[in-house]
Amino acid sequence: MAHSRVAIVTGAARGIGAAVAQRLAQDGFAVGVIDLTEDSCAATVEAITNKGGQAIGIGADVTDADAVTTAVDRVAGEFGPPTVLVNNAGITRDNLLFRMTEGDWDAVLGVHLRGAFLMSREVQKHQTEQGWGRIVNLSSTSALGNRGQANYSAAKAGMQGFTKTLAIELGKFGVTVNAIAPGFIETDMTAATAARLEVDFEDFKKAAAATIPVQRVGQPADIAALVSFLAGEESGFISGQVIYVAGGPKD
Ligand code: NAP
Repeated sequence: MAHSRVAIVTGAARGIGAAVAQRLAQDGFAVGVIDLTEDSCAATVEAITNKGGQAIGIGADVTDADAVTTAVDRVAGEFGPPTVLVNNAGITRDNLLFRMTEGDWDAVLGVHLRGAFLMSREVQKHQTEQGWGRIVNLSSTSALGNRGQANYSAAKAGMQGFTKTLAIELGKFGVTVNAIAPGFIETDMTAATAARLEVDFEDFKKAAAATIPVQRVGQPADIAALVSFLAGEESGFISGQVIYVAGGPKD
């Protein structure tokens, strides 16, 4: 049976998620573009539909179980069963440990881990029914440790364990689960880090590029290209992997 070509990307209003949603649409997927508000999804949806693709924007907080159920139901109702899920929504609340609040900790663990858990639990119902599916989780090189990011690095290391376990559980249903761990990617998130450190973003990027073997920072399209492959037909024997996309070796 041919499976449905419907994808959901969380945190797809901007940055990496927006690039991933556009790339999957280009690959022929109808895309559920999820972010905190429906309004914030409009630009991504428009970029897709302007090129003849199919997309709907849905406002949902991925940490809210009811909102997640409603969002996934809406995508399924509009386009058919979602078979590809990209857990990309993310936030940072950086601080050194002694200054980190419980709120900083809970917010970051909540969006990345609880968000990916709730989304995956909902979407796997459709994937297992279809007998085919792809889940791609966004981890980070910060999983290996990064000053000022105890919460974020714990969440991103957690994404890796979550990925491997889902790969083990869902493999027999034709569902693969992999994680992408980006290094420095030029988005609002890295711009915000530069602002927090009171460094000009151009200088920040130049300094980062000098430490990267390929001598440049990454772009959202670098991540979207790998998602495209992992979401496709030819990647079916790759599961439970963490792939660093960082312009050089990491682990
Ligand atoms: P970004 O530009 O900040 O975009 C993240 C998106 O997620 C935003 O649109 C944000 O909405 C949305 N979001 C936040 N909380 C959400 C929630 N509870 N429910 C739904 N959507 C939510 O970040 P990015 O740089 O593209 O990063 C995307 C992913 O890659 C993240 O998981 C990040 O941790 C990971 N990553 C990024 C880098 C990098 O260098 N940029 C490196 C490694 C990993 P609002 O704007 O409304 O908050």
